[in-house]
Amino acid sequence: MHILITGGAGFIGSHLVRALLERGDQVAVLDNLSTGSIENIRAFAHHPLYSFAIDDLRNELVLDRLASQADAIVHLAAAVGVQLVVERPTETIETNVIGTHTVLAAARRYRCRTLLASTSEVYGKGVKAPFAEDDDLLLGPSSRSRWSYAASKLLDEFLGLAAYREYDLPVTVVRLFNTVGPGQTGRYGMVVPRFVRAALRSEPIPVYGDGEQSRCFCHVRDTVRAVIDLLDRPEQTAGEIYNIGSSQEVTINQLAQSVIARTDSQSVLQYIPYSEAYAPGFEDMRRRVPDTTKLRTAIGWMPRYNLQQILDDVIDYERQQLATGA
Ligand code: UDP
Repeated sequence: MHILITGGAGFIGSHLVRALLERGDQVAVLDNLSTGSIENIRAFAHHPLYSFAIDDLRNELVLDRLASQADAIVHLAAAVGVQLVVERPTETIETNVIGTHTVLAAARRYRCRTLLASTSEVYGKGVKAPFAEDDDLLLGPSSRSRWSYAASKLLDEFLGLAAYREYDLPVTVVRLFNTVGPGQTGRYGMVVPRFVRAALRSEPIPVYGDGEQSRCFCHVRDTVRAVIDLLDRPEQTAGEIYNIGSSQEVTINQLAQSVIARTDSQSVLQYIPYSEAYAPGFEDMRRRVPDTTKLRTAIGWMPRYNLQQILDDVIDYERQQLATGA
């Protein structure tokens, strides 16, 4: 298959590129390098099945050319990271909504199989746990800019499902829960690389709030495997939404303690109020756990990596980075 990956220079995108090249697909990446990085994709530069365009996905001409050559599009490009979203809400909304609109328009012209990446953020505060795809969604008020990310990704979902219903475009939506692994930067707030880096440098571990909020961390290789399996089954999965995430729940305090133990670090926890970490009035999710029954039923997916293995992978990667002065 010839696959276009928007946001292919990002953390998840570059892992997806590697997996697709390994199985012999032809891969074109479109990325504006806003949060992605050239380092993530440097290793593929001379691969005969790989090509790369540095451009904004709102550039319709470029997207049209790339889509015209593609059988499938995996649309990962988006404004990511809660910190960025709180700081630059206009950019977040425009990138997400206009970007997805442009991708879907191109996909319709060339009848591309399309997989849209959404986020567990759309569940917002949640009405029950674990979160299932058909649950009602409970977002906070528009006066709090953090919700603009969820609202914009939700509109992306509606756009994708509308293209499926009205134009019979084979669109599948995936809601990605906390995804971690080697290569993720802590620059945009992601907790695991931040904790590991702090622990390896014997710096205080910054725990936001009381640390009793919980998350489920999924290894990026498990996430990518689910994405590829869904991509391969358009007849069965078009018009559907799937959660992708681990069900192993951990509080942020427990996560910090595990990181300290596995790095043998002298670091101590430093509690930082949300108002200081993000912005006054910031609302965090207390629990975020996916129900992945639907995904398991569709493709038989189960995560292969547990939290300890994920942490060890990230620790190895960050140690190498430290050694090379990165
Ligand atoms: N968090 C933290 N310290 C950090 C970064 C994040 O305590 O340096 C917390 C954050 O408030 C949230 C959880 O860790 O409760 C996961 O944050 P992340 O940004 O990785 O993903 P989110 O679940 O917010 O999308």
